[in-house]
Amino acid sequence: MIIPVRCFSCGTVVADRWQSFTKLLDEGVSKGDAMDQLGLERYCCRRMFTSHIDLIHEVAPFSTARQK
Ligand SMILES: [Zn+2]
Repeated sequence: MIIPVRCFSCGTVVADRWQSFTKLLDEGVSKGDAMDQLGLERYCCRRMFTSHIDLIHEVAPFSTARQK
């Protein structure tokens, strides 16, 4: 849904690189090259990006939080 803030295995902060990652993908860079450019070298951290599905925009309209 939302990219986890930290890698589940090693605890490295990864969420701050998600927007840069998606921007690189939109520019046509492959996932592997984009992760290399962002400094994601450990496979545990790369897993966080390759396995993530960004669903927040589909789920947000069904939120139960009340809006003022
Ligand atoms: Zn990691």
